[in-house]
Formats: sequence, C-alpha cells, structure tokens
Amino acid sequence: PTDLNALCDEYLRLAYHGLRAKDKSFNCQLVTNVEPSSQRLNVVPQEIGRVLLNLFNNAFYAVHQKQKECPDDYQPTVTVKTKYLDNQVEIRVVDNGLGMTEAVQQKIFQPFFTTKPSGEGTGLGLSLSYDIITKGHGGTMHVESEPGKGTEFIIRLPIA
Ligand code: ADP
Ligand code: MG
Repeated sequence: PTDLNALCDEYLRLAYHGLRAKDKSFNCQLVTNVEPSSQRLNVVPQEIGRVLLNLFNNAFYAVHQKQKECPDDYQPTVTVKTKYLDNQVEIRVVDNGLGMTEAVQQKIFQPFFTTKPSGEGTGLGLSLSYDIITKGHGGTMHVESEPGKGTEFIIRLPIA
C-alpha cells in the first residue's frame, strides 16, 4: 500500500532539486496541498512516481522558460494537490508557466511529440504516463491549459 501524499511531496522536491542543480538561480514556489487521508493505494509506487516526476519536470520546465522571458514580477509556482473521494483519488499538478495552445494539447499524449529542443525532450514522458495511469492502473488523465497562463494535469485513480 502506498502513501500517495508522501509520494507527491517527495517527487515534487526531487524534480525541483534536479532543475536547481542545473540552474542555481532558479527559484520556484512549491505548494503541497494534499488532503490528509489514511487511505493507502494499491498502486505500483515506482510507476506512479515516474508519472509524477514527468509531470513535475514538465511543470518546472514551463515555469523556468517563462521566467527567462518574463519581467521580474513573475513568481513561478508549481502546486500538487490531492483529494480523496469515495472510490477514487484525484491528483492535480498545476503550474503558472507557459501554457499550451489547443493544437499542442491535442498531441501531448502521442509518443515522441515534443516542443523542446533536441536533447531537452524525448516526447515520451506524457505518453508513458498516460499508459501507466489508464492501462496500468485503470485511471484517467486530462489536461487543462491556457497559453501564457499555465497548465493543470488532472489524474484520477480508483481506490480499491
Ligand atoms: P517532453 O517533456 O520530452 O517534451 P512530454 O511527453 O513530457 O515530452 O511532453 C510533451 C510536450 O507537452 C512538451 O514538449 C510540451 O510541449 C508539452 N507540455 C507538457 N507539460 C507541459 C506543461 N506543464 N506546460 C507547458 N507545456 C507542457
Ligand atoms: Mg517531459
């Protein structure tokens, strides 16, 4: 059984430190807004961890890029939220980074789709994540995004 809240917090920090190791001047506000729960999930923690890491890496990339383009009053923020319902848990990963157009949103779950320069992205993160959530764990995964405003990924996983 997995403590999802602990996993979310741990991987948020892990991803942040990964980017900070490459750019010491990068500062981002981290928000962990998890609902206290004694629910434990029957998931494969390495796989869900991998999904979270993909989402957090993408989120930090998006706010980092925006910070490079934006005036000084921009406060990069990446948030992870959980909410426990009767038979499912909802995970939201929210960033106030570059956001995506409709056209980009329609392709992000396809393997090898990337808008990043070569060497910075393989385009495999989200397609793998989508398979882990849907085929591997019987859950759902959606995106909401607005160019210039930010992005939110919503995952729902069944609770056994
Ligand atoms: P990669 O990160 O290697 O490009 P992914 O499958 O993780 O591959 O993501 C595919 C594409 O989806 C990214 O190149 C980017 O265009 C877009 N994307 C994913 N997450 C975000 C995000 N949080 N903000 C803006 N764009 C995103
Ligand atoms: Mg990625």
